[in-house]
Amino acid sequence: MGTVTYQKKVSDTDLHQVLQRMSDVYGKDITVHSGDRDDVPAGGSKTSLHLVGRAADFHISGLEDQEVFQSMRQHLAQVFTRSEGYEFIRHGVHTATTGPHLHLGHYPAKNQGKVIFKTEGLTPDTKGHYSPEEVPIPATGAAPQPDATKSGGTQTILASVGEGGVNNEADVKVIQGLLNAAQEQLKAAHIAFTGFDPLPQDGKAGPHTKGAISLFQKEIMQMANPDSRVDPNGRTLRTLQQQVVAGHIPAGAGQASARSCGGSGNNHAHGALRFHQGGGIHDDPVQHASIDQAVIFQVCLEITGLKTQDPVSVMGAGQA
Ligand SMILES: [Zn+2]
Repeated sequence: MGTVTYQKKVSDTDLHQVLQRMSDVYGKDITVHSGDRDDVPAGGSKTSLHLVGRAADFHISGLEDQEVFQSMRQHLAQVFTRSEGYEFIRHGVHTATTGPHLHLGHYPAKNQGKVIFKTEGLTPDTKGHYSPEEVPIPATGAAPQPDATKSGGTQTILASVGEGGVNNEADVKVIQGLLNAAQEQLKAAHIAFTGFDPLPQDGKAGPHTKGAISLFQKEIMQMANPDSRVDPNGRTLRTLQQQVVAGHIPAGAGQASARSCGGSGNNHAHGALRFHQGGGIHDDPVQHASIDQAVIFQVCLEITGLKTQDPVSVMGAGQA
């Protein structure tokens, strides 16, 4: 049981409950140092939820912001109100506003059932840039997403890796591991791939690693202009994760994938769908809406060339 101390007023009563539950889950005290605002600080957002009394900036005593931010997704069911939508931001040392802190915002009528995790200002390059990641609030128990640091779970990264990337050592190691594993999967599935010498997982984003990213983007994702970079929540990361964790064969990888769509069950169909879902021109976060099986099948027909409709527009039609 912990105590939440408000140095500034926060009007939103749901946030009071969320912060109290957070304090209880961690067994630590929370200090809220900013809440309702009626002006925009220099460098601050003009659409900030602070301006409508729906945000709190805080720290949890005895815990680094980073620890809280990373572990929070294991406590979503206990902490957040499932009928509501939230943003949870980790502002780094390069943030434009009041220095490093955690920010919790409660959307008025948006993103219900989700927490949008965002990081900003961890490096000079990411100042003012948010990389949102939607995480659903599960009904009970632990969050569906496994701990990224544990083997066997969905491996993920906190910042960009590769050409012009942030290249945190831990993130680079994750990508090197994913690339090696993806290559093994591709080999096992007999998918044509030029291949690369297995990468040492040394956490250094050198030419060998960047080259492997570029090759994967070019040959497996069929990107016209590979950028040798993997962004958190971007298409390259998603494709790598799907390739490795689920063993899905991306739809862009030659004829094998087209065959896999027909009649062999929903697993393959789903893999193909998800690839196409992220298959736009931009490496943007994708809205993971639930899509019925008919739409999945429809997309498969398109991939196999039986339909000519643009798969992206079908995706749009399938999303509520
Ligand atoms: Zn804030």
